[in-house]
Parts: sequence; structure tokens; C-alpha cells
Amino acid sequence: MGTHSVQLKHYRAVSSLDRKGNGIHGLILKYYEVGDNMARNIAVYGKGGIGKSTTASNISAALSEEGHRVMQIGCDPKSDSTNTLREGKFIPTVLDTLRSGKRVEISEIVHQGYNDILCVEAGGPEPGVGCAGRGIITAIELLRKRKVFDEYSPDVVIYDVLGDVVCGGFAMPIREGVAEQIYTVSSSDFMAIYAANNLFKGIKKYSNNGGALFSGIIANSINLPVHQDIIQDFSVHTSTTIVEFVPRSLTVTKSELRGKTVIEEAPDSEQAEIYRSLAKKIIDNGQKYVPLPLDVDVLKAWAERWSDRLLEQKGEPSPSSYERAHRIASGTQKGIVRRNGAVTKRVSNELN
Ligand code: ADP
Ligand code: MG
Repeated sequence: MGTHSVQLKHYRAVSSLDRKGNGIHGLILKYYEVGDNMARNIAVYGKGGIGKSTTASNISAALSEEGHRVMQIGCDPKSDSTNTLREGKFIPTVLDTLRSGKRVEISEIVHQGYNDILCVEAGGPEPGVGCAGRGIITAIELLRKRKVFDEYSPDVVIYDVLGDVVCGGFAMPIREGVAEQIYTVSSSDFMAIYAANNLFKGIKKYSNNGGALFSGIIANSINLPVHQDIIQDFSVHTSTTIVEFVPRSLTVTKSELRGKTVIEEAPDSEQAEIYRSLAKKIIDNGQKYVPLPLDVDVLKAWAERWSDRLLEQKGEPSPSSYERAHRIASGTQKGIVRRNGAVTKRVSNELN
């Protein structure tokens, strides 16, 4: 029995056809509340350089291994979202292709990556000209107009979106419900948390008008107990959840230098297992909610309290903790973590 879909204004009606494909058989079976397609549409936001593309690509790779047909759409003018899915190679961006003036063939903008993952880069404006956010709108509109989602019918679409400034363009996947679930990648660094808090403001703003909702923080570069404590405390204060703690790991660095995801380059590593666990949690995660962002003064006061607490813990983090942290992340140090002579809780297991 085949399926046939009809795009309505906000819903997609799915009708079943008989075995020969003749006529509509029976009643409309399902309604999906979707932006563009019947896929699971996920957007990953976060501060520049925080690990969105690395995390998104490893999630895509892990999901593809589970048999999902995944499309990853880079919505960052850097246009490097899908590089580690394509042996470090850049692909022509939607905006560059549009600028050529010729009719755009969808095969020019959708490129196959690792395990048949569909890779798209929205691209950016010419340096010094135009607005990067506007570029995302143009790119997504083109993908819709050219029916890219119907053509490739992915079952998971991951939008990898620069989130330093949630301007009109970057907010599009939220505002228009292009994505149904929003995640943010954040470390325990204040500027990353600041960007996450701004994202929460954007989600809250559009939440009454059909905007996408929040589904969790992906805590990245979490190697020390204090990193974990800070990000966890921020999530408590903003009534949000943490999907996974991902350590900073040399395995990621090595894999990236080979132009690959950890899933492809180091499939048996502990880091690969963490990305697989994250991918599974995302697929199973039905949570969607409005986060409670902090006012900027409250956020500042919160940060200062943490600063005071860290000052009380003399010498933390010590330079040598860097190396130890990598041992924890790569799983070579099993058991307890010694910090400044004091025995503190073990991180490694809690990260999995
Ligand atoms: P973004 O997409 O948010 O701008 P990237 O994913 O490009 O950030 O990551 C920035 C840099 O940080 C990359 O060189 C990447 O390899 C590195 N990185 C990100 N996450 C990790 C991690 N968990 N461990 C080690 N390096 C990481
Ligand atoms: Mg990126």
C-alpha cells in the first residue's frame, strides 16, 4: 500500500492508495502539523564555534546508521556545517548557486554525504554586502519552492543555525515553525549561556504564534564537575532540560582533521557512543516547551554568584586539569576524579 500526501495550509493530509496505486482508498489517515514535510524537523542553535556543526553532523551520522534518511541544512554563513560528512569538502551553497543567475537544479544544492546523508548549505551574502539572516530565508524559500523535501523525502531534517543573534532571518526556523523542535548547544562558558538565554527569549516571543518550541540543551565541552554544575544550574533557572553532556575530546579533533565525524572515523570510541546516545535521545524526545529566559540583570547576577563560588574553590580549574579532563573524556581514567587532593564525584559515567 502506497501513500500519497497533500499539503494543506498548516497540515499535511496523508491518504492511502490501493495496491495498484489507483484512486484514493479509504479516509485520510493522519494529520501532521508540519512546516514543509513529514520529516522530523529539528533545529540546533548556539553561539558561533560552540560545536553545533560538529554535534549536528555526528547526530546525522548516528541516525543514518540507524537507517534514517537524514538531511542536514547548514544555516550559517560559514557554510561548513556538513564538511565532516563530506571528507572536509565544501559544497556549493544555495545562495551562491542562486547568484549564478541560472535556473537552480536541486541536484546542484543537495549533495550526498556519509551514509547517503543529504547535505545542504544555505550560504551567506557576499562579504560586506547584504544580511546573513536574509540569506537563510531566501535559501529555505528556494528549498520549499523547488520541492526539495518532496523530492528527497528525508525522515529527519536537521537545521544547523548560527545563534549569536536571533535576528529575523536566523529566527525563521523558529518563527515559522519550519522546525518543530529546537535544541541549543552550549558549554558552561558565560557567552555560550548568554547566547542560549537569548535563544530562549526568541522562542518565548514566537511561542504564541505557532513558533517552534524548545526540546533541550546539548551541553558540550563538559569535562569537569564544575562545568556540569554550571550548565545544570542554568537549566534549572530557565526551566529547561539537558539532553546530553558531551565531553570535549581529542577524538573529535582528530576526526575533524581527517574531515570526518567521530561516528565515521572512530566508531568504537566512547565519544561515538555519546553521540549515538544523544541521537537516540533526540529521536525519542517528545518534549516541547517554552523556556523561561532570565532578564539580563538576573543572568549577570547569576554569573557573578558562580564567579564567587569558583573563587572560593582555590585553584580550580588548574592547568593540569586539562589533561586529566581529556583522560576522563576518552574513558581512560575510570573511577574517581581527584581534584586538588580532594576526592570528588566521577564524571565519566555521568556523561553517558
Ligand atoms: P559551530 O558550528 O557552533 O560554529 P563547530 O562545530 O564548527 O562550531 O566547532 C568549533 C570547533 O570546536 C571545531 O574545531 C570542533 O572540532 C571543535 N569541537 C566542538 N565540539 C567539540 C568536542 N566535544 N570536543 C572537541 N572539539 C570540539
Ligand atoms: Mg557551524
